[in-house]
Amino acid sequence: MKQLPPDTVRLLSSSQVITSLVNVVKELMENSLDAEASSIDVKLENYGLDRIEVRDNGLGIKADDTPVMAVTHFTSKICSNEDLERLETYGFRGEALGSVCSVAEVSVITKTEEDDVSTQYTLNFSGEIVSQKPSHLGQGTTVSVLKLFKNIPVRRQYYSSTKKCKEELKKIQDLLVAYAIIKPGLRLTLIHNRVVVWQKATVADHRSALLATLGAGAVANLLPCHHHQEQPEILLEGFFPKPGADYSSTSSSSADKTFIFVNNRPVHQKDIMKLLRQHYSAQYPDTPTRNRYPTAMLKITVPPSSVDVNLTPDKTQVLLHDKVEAVLTALDALLVSLYGYRHNGDPPAE
Ligand code: ADP
Ligand code: MG
Repeated sequence: MKQLPPDTVRLLSSSQVITSLVNVVKELMENSLDAEASSIDVKLENYGLDRIEVRDNGLGIKADDTPVMAVTHFTSKICSNEDLERLETYGFRGEALGSVCSVAEVSVITKTEEDDVSTQYTLNFSGEIVSQKPSHLGQGTTVSVLKLFKNIPVRRQYYSSTKKCKEELKKIQDLLVAYAIIKPGLRLTLIHNRVVVWQKATVADHRSALLATLGAGAVANLLPCHHHQEQPEILLEGFFPKPGADYSSTSSSSADKTFIFVNNRPVHQKDIMKLLRQHYSAQYPDTPTRNRYPTAMLKITVPPSSVDVNLTPDKTQVLLHDKVEAVLTALDALLVSLYGYRHNGDPPAE
């Protein structure tokens, strides 16, 4: 038996962290948001297979930090296990940038407020800087990822099919829409092959963000709801279809218009989705609702210490520890007051 060479270990672990095109966009956007950016441009060439570029106007990376920015397990966000209990940032593992370097060609242009000019850094397979030169961009960071999965031919091939490319572009747009809703102050643009595919300006609140992303027709049928409790501490804020609202305008054949956030993270939580669908469908006893999902936004805020976001590398599923029952109970109560249907009993006839 032989120990694997370090480069092989690196490639294997990086390809588990960076799994897809949308995953790269998510990691880069979350870095921009952690850097307090109020404007993010996502540019793709050939669906991102040739180039994914994420440009922000955030804090930038300090010159002292640039040598380790893409070295695995270097992060500016946490220092200890205790910090994981009070996590406020999207990132914390110090893995994304380094992992992208191992599966693509990466360069970073960055400028902090203190820097006179921006600097462009070219990184190698191990995330080390191999060259640097002055650049002309303003404050913030631009990360360019070229030839994604160039050294994982099977995966590159997999994402190269027209069908898969289009699916990934749709997922990227859905991801941007989710961030647009949870971050109303954020300006966002998605450009594919130099054409603006989707954009959203800065708006004041979640309602305006829903209006900008889903349109007036959908939002007119949504009702804002709110529930706050102390023990255990849970804040639920949401927009749900008004009772009796037109079924076709407030539901969708896929879950892409049901937005669920836990502590500002877009997540896929099956149990919460199931509860939402049960309450929503119960209003339409004569309509087949099996494959319909409500247009809705639910923002769950709980103390950071009660969430484990480290369940999957892409952080789209979280563990609510002992709070999951409490969250479901609180949500159930909120939906009962909205729709008058108790999910563990039979739906009311009227
Ligand atoms: P993590 O986000 O878990 O810290 P990453 O590998 O994604 O790990 O990023 C490593 C570090 O690089 C971050 O901690 C941050 O200091 C810096 N960084 C990456 N992207 C940006 C950005 N867009 N703006 C400012 N700093 C960034
Ligand atoms: Mg990160």
